[in-house]
Amino acid sequence: MSLSNAGTRGTDGQCILCGEQGWALVVRAEDMEYACRPGPFDLVSCAGCGHVYKHPMPAPEEIASLYPPTYYTVNKKSPLYLDGRIYERKLLKDAEKLRRQTQGLNIRSIVDIGGGDIQRLIKVKEAFGTDVEAIAFDLQFEQEWIDRAGRHGVRVVVGNVETDIENLTDNGHDLIVMRQLLEHLRHPEIAVRNVYRKLRPNGIVIIDTPNRGGLDYHLWKRKYWGGYHIPRHFHLFTLPSLTRLMRDAGYHVYDQGYLPSLGFWVMSLRNQLGLNSARRGKSLWEFLYFKNIPLSVFFILFDWVRIRLGFQSSNQFIVGQKREPSPANAARHEVKGSQQFSF
Ligand SMILES: [Zn+2]
Repeated sequence: MSLSNAGTRGTDGQCILCGEQGWALVVRAEDMEYACRPGPFDLVSCAGCGHVYKHPMPAPEEIASLYPPTYYTVNKKSPLYLDGRIYERKLLKDAEKLRRQTQGLNIRSIVDIGGGDIQRLIKVKEAFGTDVEAIAFDLQFEQEWIDRAGRHGVRVVVGNVETDIENLTDNGHDLIVMRQLLEHLRHPEIAVRNVYRKLRPNGIVIIDTPNRGGLDYHLWKRKYWGGYHIPRHFHLFTLPSLTRLMRDAGYHVYDQGYLPSLGFWVMSLRNQLGLNSARRGKSLWEFLYFKNIPLSVFFILFDWVRIRLGFQSSNQFIVGQKREPSPANAARHEVKGSQQFSF
């Protein structure tokens, strides 16, 4: 049976949050962004708790085929590619924000998981001071990235956060960062448990991931929402479901909230207008790209104001703390639902 003939309900799923097998179709679509493989692909919602996940879940050996050479992180022609001064400024602001978020904690060792070209971690290391240990952890590293890491005193460690994390030290790290990574994993519930083991007591993990709840989500949820990122997002959380994932893994929720989501506004509009993410074409709508500064500022401010007014955006963060073995010694810090300023 081809996917296009597949039903809209089934009982062969596997919810990572509640274990329920029943599901209902949420969206069925092709890869509108890169046409990496013939589709369509399905996202479904759990009949028990509503968690949204890809169905069927790709096998591990299929995953590389979902990221073509035209993917925006490695393709300078992509309308979503960021580099140069704008990118540097974003990384600097993110690093400074991380420093503020972790004030009062003793940070001696930082791990960035899935951070790609190392530039993000270099800025973080600069913000925290050069005597802090900085480790980039990823599936693989290009030689250029390894050379860059060497120049800036960053260690590179190869591994897989879901299946092969033993190259990191148990109880060895104070701050672990996973930005826009969880949704790309087959088993985020295993990843956050693995990370928990690697944190020192009172250490924290900072996670950003899409949120099914921004205005752009509500406008485009039937098909074109950029947060679906079909077929590369395998799990899509809400703030309560992400909280559940973290608490089930043993974390204390140290902080959480929403972040401006420029990316999904631009991607949703591009999907709706039939523009792909591989390269900018000749359409009059091609002003919808990341390096269009007025456009980016507009969407960031728009989401930021909405968050301040108490609305959700399509990007969220959670900070989980490992409070063991003596919770009484943990830094007392209640969830304040703070808003952060980010892309
Ligand atoms: Zn469920």
